[in-house]
Amino acid sequence: MLQPSKITPQDLGEELAKIIPGRDPELSVTIKRIPVSQLDLSSHIIPVCEPTLGGNEAKYLLDCVESNWVSSAGKYIPAFEEKFAAECGCKYSVACLNGTIALHLALVVLGLKPGDEVILPTFTMIATINAITYTGATPVLIDSEPITWNMDVQQLADKITPKTKAIMPVHTYGHPVDMDPLMELAEKHNLFVLEDAAEAHGAEYKGRRCGGLGHAGSFSFYANKIITTGEGGMITTNNAEFAALAENLRDHAFSSERHFWHKFVGFNYRMTNLQAAVGLAQVEQMSKFITHRRHNAALYSRLLREIPGIVTPPESKDVKNVFWMYGILVQDEFGMTRDELRAFLAKHGIETRTFFIPMHLQPIYYEAFKGQRYPVAEMLCQRGFYLPSASSLTELQIRYVVDMVQQAHVEAMNR
Ligand SMILES: *Cc1c(COP(=O)(O)O)cnc(C)c1O
Repeated sequence: MLQPSKITPQDLGEELAKIIPGRDPELSVTIKRIPVSQLDLSSHIIPVCEPTLGGNEAKYLLDCVESNWVSSAGKYIPAFEEKFAAECGCKYSVACLNGTIALHLALVVLGLKPGDEVILPTFTMIATINAITYTGATPVLIDSEPITWNMDVQQLADKITPKTKAIMPVHTYGHPVDMDPLMELAEKHNLFVLEDAAEAHGAEYKGRRCGGLGHAGSFSFYANKIITTGEGGMITTNNAEFAALAENLRDHAFSSERHFWHKFVGFNYRMTNLQAAVGLAQVEQMSKFITHRRHNAALYSRLLREIPGIVTPPESKDVKNVFWMYGILVQDEFGMTRDELRAFLAKHGIETRTFFIPMHLQPIYYEAFKGQRYPVAEMLCQRGFYLPSASSLTELQIRYVVDMVQQAHVEAMNR
C-alpha cells in the first residue's frame, strides 16, 4: 500500500525547521475586551474566509431540481462558461469539477510527457505542482520577488533549458504576475504559458484580466475563492482548438465519429449543472465582491500601516489586485513572531491562516529539490499570514481585527 513521506520539519535542518509554521492555534470566543463600542463580536468567531451567497444561487439551484437537470448537461453550464469567459476577456472557457483538475486538464491538452520541464514558483499551493506531477513532467522551481510575492520573472531566463515546455505563473493572493516580460521570454523560446489564476478572478494587468494574459488560464471555485461553486474550476483561453480538445478530454474523449469510440485516454472532469447554477449566480456578483475586497483591503492597509513591524500587501503600478486573501508580514520590530500573533488573534476569536509552505520544503517533494534554497519564498513562509478576507467582511470587523493586532503589539512591547 501507499506509504506517506517520512520527512519531518527536523529533517530539513535546524535553519529550515524553524521557518515551518506551527500548528493552527485554537480559536476562542472568550473575548475579554471589546475595543470598538457597540460591537458584539464577543459571541462569534471571524472566519478567515467564507463564501458570500447573496444572489440568485437558491433560485437557479431550485430551477435545476424542478426541471430535473442535475448532472453535467443543462443550460447553466454554457451560461456560466460564457459569462465567466467574458469576465476574463477570453473567447472560450471550459468548466471542470475543481481547480486542480482544470490545471491538470490544461497540461494534458498541451501534451506534456515525462522528461518535459515546467517552470513554476516554489511559493504556491500544492495543486500547481501536483498537476505537473500527474502528467509525469518535471517541475522546475523559481523564487518569488520580495515586493509582490509573485514569481521573480527576472530569474526566469536562467531556468529555461531545451526541455522546458511551459511556464505556470501564479497570481499570488490576487496580485497579477508581471506578464509582459514573461510572455516575451515565452515567445522567444516557444513555451506555453498556463496562468494559475485560482486566486485572481477579475484581477487586472495593464487593463487586461488574468486568465486571458497567457495562452490559457485556470481558475478555482472552491468555497473560499473569490466566487464559488462549492467545488469547481475553469480553463480559459482564446485558442479554439485548445478549448475544443479540453472539452472533449473532460468528457471521456468521446469521438464525434461514433459513440463509445475513444482516441484519447480521457477523463470525467465534468462540472454539474448544479455547480454551474451557483456559478452563474456568483459571477453575476463578481464585480461587487471585488469592489468590497478592494475597499476592505484599503481600510486594512490604512489602519495597519500605523503599527510598527507590519508589512501590508502590495499593489504595483499597472495592476489591480483583487486581494483574494489579505496577507501581511510580521517583522522583528513588531515584538512578537507571526505564530505568537496568530495565537493572540485566535484567543480573540479571529481566524487566520499562514502563508504557503514552499514546494521545495514539502515532505513529498523534498528529495526532488534537496539542497535548493529560495530565500524570498522561505522568508514569506516564516513571516506571512492572512487576516480575515471574505467579501462580506464589515468595516466594524476590520476595525476589531486591527485593534487586536495593535493590542498584541502593545503587549509585546511591555513584556
Ligand atoms: C485553490 C488553488 C488551486 C486549486 O483549486 P481547487 O479548486 O481547490 O482544486 C490551485 N492553485 C492555486 C494557486 C490555488 O490557490
